[in-house]
Amino acid sequence: MAPITKQYDYIVIGGGSGGSGAARRASGWYGAKTAIIDAGVSGGCCVNVGCVPKKMTWNFASIAEAMKAGKHYGYKFGEPDFDFTSFVEKRDARIKVLNGAYENNWAKEGIDLIHGTATFINEHEMEVKPKDGGEPYRITAPHITIATGSYPTKPEGIKGSEYGITSDEYFSIKHLPKKMVFVGGGYIAVELAGVMNAIGVESHLFIRHNTFLRKFDPMIQETLTNHYEELGVHVHRNHPGIKEVIQVKAAKDESDPREKELKLIMNDGSEMVTNELLWAIGRGAETRGLGLENIPIKLDKTGHIEVDKYQNTNIDGVYALGDVSGQVELTPVAIAAGRLLGNRLFGPPEHKDAHLDYERIPSVVFSHPECGSTGLTEPQAIEKYGKENVKIYHTKFSAMYYDVFPPEEKKKEPTEFKLVCKLPEEEVVGLHILGKGCDEMMQGFGVAVKMRATKKDFDSCVAIHPTSAEELVTMR
Ligand code: NDP
Repeated sequence: MAPITKQYDYIVIGGGSGGSGAARRASGWYGAKTAIIDAGVSGGCCVNVGCVPKKMTWNFASIAEAMKAGKHYGYKFGEPDFDFTSFVEKRDARIKVLNGAYENNWAKEGIDLIHGTATFINEHEMEVKPKDGGEPYRITAPHITIATGSYPTKPEGIKGSEYGITSDEYFSIKHLPKKMVFVGGGYIAVELAGVMNAIGVESHLFIRHNTFLRKFDPMIQETLTNHYEELGVHVHRNHPGIKEVIQVKAAKDESDPREKELKLIMNDGSEMVTNELLWAIGRGAETRGLGLENIPIKLDKTGHIEVDKYQNTNIDGVYALGDVSGQVELTPVAIAAGRLLGNRLFGPPEHKDAHLDYERIPSVVFSHPECGSTGLTEPQAIEKYGKENVKIYHTKFSAMYYDVFPPEEKKKEPTEFKLVCKLPEEEVVGLHILGKGCDEMMQGFGVAVKMRATKKDFDSCVAIHPTSAEELVTMR
């Protein structure tokens, strides 16, 4: 057996958002001797193939949209042209800076970064196989946190599904395909199909039901699904599903799907040819290679590690957080859970009950336009409190930004808000917004809803004029 070379107070497996938050709190704040073991690139999904490159690409697409709007405002220029490859290179360079920033912060805070894979030998011992091919060795700690995240899945049972890509490979694309198919109706499919449509790629979105974003309030589902169609996304509602994917022509390399040709055969016998196919049908817990079979850790039926509200697994001293624990799959949730766990394990006694409250977590989908949500949807509130105890405030209007657009285009640009209130005090238990600027608008209203503000509290805040957000404090 490999020798034990090091003992730590805390081992964190995974150097993504959650793992970094957990380790930095433990080491940087409380001086715990901490190691992060990371098999990939520092920063995890968010930095490398998630939030960061996605938002930068959404910004890129927003400029195309602003240029279209510019013409309505009287700006004069020819058909805009752009260099996607040079944008991707700049985006990648920024990500490299962030990879380095993560590693610098860990080093500054005394955290050992181990590049390699970690496998449980028993509850408190791990075997590390260094990435550089060095000799395996063992490390131990009384506290081990699993923060290995998740990976995008491809469907099982569809012949040729491997010819499609996932969001991981999407961020390697340097040359835009002419046509692209997205399968799925969640955050990733909606965000990426929206971006590609905005920058001129013929985008087809296959959804199994009549609307996408079905975990969101019906207002968001219906308005956005309709609006995507108005924007030119080919939304294939109630799609029968793909039966087989045939690769007619392979791409020269994964960054250039222009020449790639896939033939999709659907379950109803219809066919479509596309340059690229992206599966965005959910993510699986990243437990591969951890050696969980060597410890009696409990997984749920979807393969996520079961945890209680303190991120404890069923094994003393072993914790899990972030996507691998299958709670709310959002970067800031993992960071917050990691920091609070660090407080609880290594902080002063007043933190002994520290844990994340998983209720009323705001989130934003970087769709076109963006939408945001916190708390209960209208159907959830009715189910929880009864229809007679729920009051809805709803408004739909055209934002001032579109006032100079031709009337038929102006009327297509939605801004729509909903407050879900619990009677009799009209506590705002759900807030759902879509429209230009809603991404930045969401955070502040997230605080209000978290503080259990009532409609009266909203109304007591003087409106900021002229904004779209003012409608949220003046709703009748
Ligand atoms: P989601 O879980 O959000 O959505 C996947 C969707 O795909 C499901 O809702 C389902 O929709 C559909 N689906 C599932 N299986 C199939 C199938 N076999 N065929 C066709 N459609 C299918 O997963 P994503 O992959 O979009 O994103 C993963 C997670 O990452 C999200 O939950 C989110 O928390 C996080 N994320 C957050 C972002 C943000 O904060 N802005 C951005 C990107 C990701 P239906 O049931 O309607 O068919």
